[in-house]
Amino acid sequence: MRLVFEPDFDFGSWPGPLAACDAVTGEEWVGQAGLLSRLELALGLGGPETPGAERAAALVPQVLSVQGFWSESATRDPLGTARRLLAWRDELYMGGWTGAAFTSRLAQLAEVTATVAPGFPDRLASVTETLTRRRADIEQVELLIPPEELPHTWRAVLAGLERRGTAVREIRLPEILATQCDLHAARAAPFHPGGDGSLQLLRPYGSLAAAEIVAAWLAALPDLAGALVIGPDTTLDAALHRHGLPTTGATAAVQENLLLQVLPLALALAWHPPDPQRALELLTLPIGPVPQPIAGKLVRALHEWPAVDSDAWRTALVQGLAALPEGDRRAGVERRLEALFSSSLKYGSPYPSAEAERRIAVLETWLRGRRWANEGTSEETKWEPPLAQLASTRRLLGLSGLSEHTAPQLQWLVEAATEAVGTPPVLPAEAGLAAVGVPGAVAGPARTIVWWNFTLEAAPPMRGLPLSAEERAALAAAGVELLDPGREALRRARRWRRPLFQASEHLLLIAPRRGRGGEEAFPHPLWDELAARIPTPAARSVLEFDRPHKGVLCRTRPGVARPTPKPVRDWIAPARLLVARDAESPSSLRTLLGCSFKWSLDHVARLSLGETGALPSAELLAGRLAHEILRRALAKPASSPAEVRALAETLFDEEGPRLAAPLFLPGADDPHDEARHVISQAASTLTGILHQAGLRLVSSEKPLMCTTGRWKDRLGGIADLVVGPPATVLDLKWGPFQRRLSLESGTALQLACYSIMLREGPQAPLPAVAYFVLKTQQLLTTAAGIFLDVERIEGRTVDQTWAAFEVAHDTVRQDFLAGDLVAPGNPDDEGNVYPEEEEIAEDGRLVLMPPCRFCELSVLCGRVFGGQRS
Ligand code: SF4
Repeated sequence: MRLVFEPDFDFGSWPGPLAACDAVTGEEWVGQAGLLSRLELALGLGGPETPGAERAAALVPQVLSVQGFWSESATRDPLGTARRLLAWRDELYMGGWTGAAFTSRLAQLAEVTATVAPGFPDRLASVTETLTRRRADIEQVELLIPPEELPHTWRAVLAGLERRGTAVREIRLPEILATQCDLHAARAAPFHPGGDGSLQLLRPYGSLAAAEIVAAWLAALPDLAGALVIGPDTTLDAALHRHGLPTTGATAAVQENLLLQVLPLALALAWHPPDPQRALELLTLPIGPVPQPIAGKLVRALHEWPAVDSDAWRTALVQGLAALPEGDRRAGVERRLEALFSSSLKYGSPYPSAEAERRIAVLETWLRGRRWANEGTSEETKWEPPLAQLASTRRLLGLSGLSEHTAPQLQWLVEAATEAVGTPPVLPAEAGLAAVGVPGAVAGPARTIVWWNFTLEAAPPMRGLPLSAEERAALAAAGVELLDPGREALRRARRWRRPLFQASEHLLLIAPRRGRGGEEAFPHPLWDELAARIPTPAARSVLEFDRPHKGVLCRTRPGVARPTPKPVRDWIAPARLLVARDAESPSSLRTLLGCSFKWSLDHVARLSLGETGALPSAELLAGRLAHEILRRALAKPASSPAEVRALAETLFDEEGPRLAAPLFLPGADDPHDEARHVISQAASTLTGILHQAGLRLVSSEKPLMCTTGRWKDRLGGIADLVVGPPATVLDLKWGPFQRRLSLESGTALQLACYSIMLREGPQAPLPAVAYFVLKTQQLLTTAAGIFLDVERIEGRTVDQTWAAFEVAHDTVRQDFLAGDLVAPGNPDDEGNVYPEEEEIAEDGRLVLMPPCRFCELSVLCGRVFGGQRS
């Protein structure tokens, strides 16, 4: 048996044993983990390996019970402390420390980690010890790394092998004959690049664009013999697949397996009130523990009231469950949803292990059921990773012995359990294109090397042990060799250079300008090294491109120049579709007049944000909550302003979390306090105004329908408050924006609509209307003689507003007959945007501004491409 050893071969090796033949036996290229397993197997030491997370979790009880320099930290974060102590201990063991008490801190560290499960250094020590008694039957170990660069523990293993007859020798990487090309000239300073395309740093915008051009470039090569990719991922594999090239078998990041997201989301829902965004994410997973028909209903409820357990949620849940067949299945789903969506933990308080276990058990039952249902099919295996994740999390919880965890600790446990699960390749590895994980795994010549993800992120910084000078001296005196970050950095840098020395024709370094989150990304440190060899910064430009430059002509289609989307004001639609709806509402009529393009998309095309659309914003939510609380608080008859205020505060505190949860989440203190103050103050002020005027509440949030005139049965809506006598409509608004102006100019269409709906007959007078602005507690009205001590605004009457509306409405309808729609947020052909203000125009038409501020259709109408956002 011949073994070729290089620590980085744990991430694949190039060219490997098959470099010069089609088949081989008795030869392996191995990294640290590979060589250790090979030796354990040869010596009969093999056994299940304890994952690092489990070793750390199992150390927690010792960390808490043994007193030491870590004790203060352990009271706050026992798990994090255990992880850190274990990492220090393992690194010291790799250097040759065996627990000797050279200083008091080292003595404490040895004591607290004395019973820890064996890790990598312990397994190496066990191999060394066994080699004193047995042979490993390995003829030869060839090192691609100078032995003195290996940690002490590894050198002991190699020495043990040599004593037992194994030939251990260092071999050097073969040299690629240098030519005059950039790729080879870059090996030394000064480097004068000629831009021949042999060495290129590609900086496309992001990884998707990068994958596309790399795949196209590879597809354009005459053949892929001698082509090697470093560090491929699923994004590149998908592009290779699209271009008909062999894929590398890259495994998906755990975040890409949506089934592995279920556990963290289910655990997050235990906080009270549950974050509705987390609930939305769980409900909109393609596969989740909530049956799809119920999930859809609950999502709609969340968009109405973003909180778990609102009235809308409860109704949706009851309806969803009722749609399931009666019996065990319905009862099982009901129990599962009850367990998942019940929340009792106060944010910031410890998370009981029992609660985590309870949620894990619920998910496990569901997953086992799904796996059982898919037994014998190709779908069966997809349930294994989430089940393993649950089992691993439960094991970690048990090993730590902690009855409760902080939120970050629990998150670490789940992440560690998730990482341990691993995920299968999205596309299988195929013959024809070689791949290794890291540059150090390149140990032989390759015609073409593509270094994918050539980014700074792929080169994490080095860190040394936090030891005192006294400890270092004591350890050195005892022959313990500590990792020197400086020397280790140099060693890593030598490995990074391997692709530069092993590529014979092309080296493509792929460093997108933006990371996955859109953040700015930077090239790998090797690029700094190369750039430093170029005497003038300007000369570097011949090496940096957005897409591959010279050398190979990519087989991509030439780009088609398409016009950039532009804002469009005038649209044409099939007139037959623009028919009147059965009934309009005040807000739909406002949209109709403000932007007929939007009205048609909202009410004819019925476009909506869909299930994953954003939940209501904080301001919108505060206004909605105010409506609900005032409706309930004012309904109590004959209460004083102070009593109504107290009632509003109680309702806010008790009902708010299950109606508008975002206002009650950590970090929402300011909007929460503002909403509570505004709502309670508004309840008190409004009660005082009504008492003073001798008015009482007639109805609140009551559906109304026009019962007379042209709009009979065609105009309906829900008026916030109707008070009287005489019947008067009060519309609650959160802020004062444009309210006064709309009353003065006669453009308060919404109020006019409610007045029309309340009118008792065609000739009856129109009921008075008023705004009540919650933030400023102002009552704004044009009506005289109803309210006392409020400012009366001189403005148009409701009749005038309505008459102007009728004219405007007829105009729009006339336009519809020709299929004309207008998006007035966009400029016309002359570049003019109008209207500039809301008014009753000289031709008697009600003119309203388009609702661009709250519109989600600005991409469709093109407004956003004019540099303006909704
Ligand atoms: S952004 Fe403005 S112009 Fe465009 S559709 Fe929306 S309301 Fe109309």
